[in-house]
Amino acid sequence: LEINLSPMSLGDEEWVGVLIVLHDITAVRRLERMRSEFVANVSHELKTPIAAVKGFAETLLAGALNDKETAKSFLQIIFDESERLNRLIGDILELSKIESKRIPMQFSPIYMQTFVGNCLNVMNSEAAKKSIELEMLVDENLYIEADEDRLRQIMINLLSNGINYTPEGGKVKVKVESFLRAGDGPENERIRLTISDTGIGIPKKDLPRIFERFYRVDKARSRVSGGTGLGLSIVKHLVELHKGSIRVDSEVGMGSKFIIELPIIH
Ligand code: ADP
Repeated sequence: LEINLSPMSLGDEEWVGVLIVLHDITAVRRLERMRSEFVANVSHELKTPIAAVKGFAETLLAGALNDKETAKSFLQIIFDESERLNRLIGDILELSKIESKRIPMQFSPIYMQTFVGNCLNVMNSEAAKKSIELEMLVDENLYIEADEDRLRQIMINLLSNGINYTPEGGKVKVKVESFLRAGDGPENERIRLTISDTGIGIPKKDLPRIFERFYRVDKARSRVSGGTGLGLSIVKHLVELHKGSIRVDSEVGMGSKFIIELPIIH
């Protein structure tokens, strides 16, 4: 709390009171703390792949290069970790652009059936590798006004999570329908976009934190699947830039469901 005191007078001598301004600076403090936590997290996340690259390169230089098989597997690790670093930096830049609202939104009408179909096509080969079935259930005649690239980013992020966190032979499903909130007229129609999977699910205690930057239920697993821990926070920001909301419903071992609600027209 910041307190400013200013004496109030009518003339030179005549004091009529004191003006006290109470200024709540806790919000500012909180923001500052979040920022420095973010910087600390970023440094930590960047250090891990760099340490791996450095360590394996050192071992190669110290002689491991002479054994061809060992050398090959070490070089593969160096390559993978560099890729990871690239993705991480890409996601960090993206998030910082979105958070500072430095991305111009370009709204245009999007036909949902075609759009979702295209997104699923993009993910087809990834899903096929794990024999995961992709299914879509999109109502006809649904158009929404959105930034197509950003909406695709939302979909691709959620679909790749669905595929990553679902074992072989599972299913990832996209459903799109329109709905009205209680009391809203037809001019305020909204769409509900649900992406569900039959995967490993998320423990109840982790659910409230799942959209936080770098929050991961299982760090090791996320690393193996190449995750950065930033996907869901990027998704949440992008949904909010469309004046929408996102929530998650999940049960361990049963699968997860991400539900996005968006206005049809802005
Ligand atoms: P990551 O890059 O680690 O996937 P995200 O921000 O996309 O990061 O997701 C954060 C965490 O939420 C993941 O590490 C994972 O633990 C959990 N998660 C996200 N999507 C799913 C899902 N469909 N099923 C199970 N867990 C999920």
